[in-house]
Formats: sequence, C-alpha cells, structure tokens
Amino acid sequence: MRFDVAGEPGDPARPNEDYAAVALPASGAGGALVLLDGVTPPAGDDGCQHGVPWFTGRLGSRLLQLATTQRDLCLTDCLTEAIASTAADHQTDCDLSHPRTPQATVIAARWGEQAVEHLVLSDSVLLLESASGEVLPLLDTRLDRLPRQVARIREQVRALPAGSAEHAAARRAYVREVEALRNAPGGQGFYTAAADPTVATKAVTGHTPRADLRGLLALTDGASRWTETFRLGDWASLLSLVRKEGSEALLTQVRAAESADPDGAAFPRGKCHDDATAAFVDLPAPR
Ligand SMILES: [Zn+2]
Repeated sequence: MRFDVAGEPGDPARPNEDYAAVALPASGAGGALVLLDGVTPPAGDDGCQHGVPWFTGRLGSRLLQLATTQRDLCLTDCLTEAIASTAADHQTDCDLSHPRTPQATVIAARWGEQAVEHLVLSDSVLLLESASGEVLPLLDTRLDRLPRQVARIREQVRALPAGSAEHAAARRAYVREVEALRNAPGGQGFYTAAADPTVATKAVTGHTPRADLRGLLALTDGASRWTETFRLGDWASLLSLVRKEGSEALLTQVRAAESADPDGAAFPRGKCHDDATAAFVDLPAPR
C-alpha cells in the first residue's frame, strides 16, 4: 500500500482550507481516504468564530475515524454522524443557521478485501483506476446543471474582460446566485456538508469490486483544474502523471499554468490560484 498526498494553499498568506487524510486500520485488511474542500465565505462573514480550517479539520478527522472504526456503518451514515458531531462542537458559540456557516465538499473512499466504497458530495473529484488502467471519474454534477439564469450569468462573467469593473460586478452577481442555490430546499441547486446532517443523503455513492481497481485519486477543484480548466490532459493522463511523478508534480504544473495566465484571459476561473490538494492511493493486488 502506498499513499501520496500533496496540498498547497492558493495564497501562502492564508491557511489552506482543504483537508486530506488516509488511514490504514490497525486491524483488518483495508483503509480509508477522506478529502474536503472548505468553501471560503465571500465576505468573511459566516457566523462562526472558529473559521473554515477549524471546521474542515473537525469534519474530516471525525469522518475518517468513523469510516475506519465503524465498518458496519455505510459512508453516508458516517458522514451524517460526522456532520452532526461537528455541528455539536460549535452550536453553543456560533450561529449555525447562518447561510454561510462553514461548509465543505466531501470525498470519502473505503476499501476492504471485497469492495471499494465511495462517496462524492459537490465539486471535488474521485478518480477510480481500473486493474486494466482505465480511469473513471466520479463526480457530483449538480453544479454543472445550474438553472438557466445562473448559467447565463456565468457565461456573461466569462465573456467580459478579466480585471474590468463589469467583470467584477457580473462575478459578484454570479456568486450571489450560486450562494442562494447552495443547500437550498427544492432540489434546484447543489449541496455541501455544513451543519445539516441530512445533506449526506444527497451524496453520490456506490461501490466497486476490490479486484477491479488498482488506484484511487481524490482531487479538490484547485487540483482538478489541470484537466477541467487548463485541459493539459484527460483524467487518465492526470492519473498517470500522479502515479509516475507524484501528487506534488501535479500541483506544480497547475501553479505554472495559473501563473502563465494570471488574469484568467485564456482560461477563465474564479480565482487565479485556489487551494489545491491531491490524495493518491496505490492499491495492492488483493490477496
Ligand atoms: Zn464555529
């Protein structure tokens, strides 16, 4: 079993709001992977006195603990319990009803002798590498299916010159629209892990026979932009790069692509640099 995890903040002056951890249980044949991408509140106002890194650290470590020690609980139930216990940790000090209460995207994977289970919530990506080398991306595509008026504003943002006042105004309008759809009732929007445990049931979940897989790679969107934004290669090429040269090499290439297009003129994106994390598990052949 080999793990290779690399993470880097988008801005060296700010803490990284991503979380990644991999564990091998002390007993039994298997392990688990957790990766979260904390959502940065646009105005820094989230009703919480702890901050996003505190939240992702609590939620991620609780989820990893439950996934490894409560193997009878499915990953959805592990996430339900992790959200509830993290909320309980700050409900007396913080306003958890605030619409921007700390929240995160979630990837979880757990493997044993027979199967690999997965859970994907919001826009982080989990790549499954098959025993024959094919790569299957597991995505929660709700963010790509936003209502038409939001998609229209996003197109306007992309068409306006980066750095202009019009671009900034359109981008603020887009962020407002997206915020209104996050964890909103009615099923029109998308979901992140915040303070409501029932959101765990919205995650994309499934399992794959253990013998069919040889690798797992979880990416926050700051790292998956290698494929999704800069189009430096498809998912299989991305996974091949990480397998051969390491997770750090992926982040180095992302930073180089960002620096070559600092205003987002060629490759439109929300932030020039974003927190970027990649967590790779090289699964040994099952016994
Ligand atoms: Zn708090």
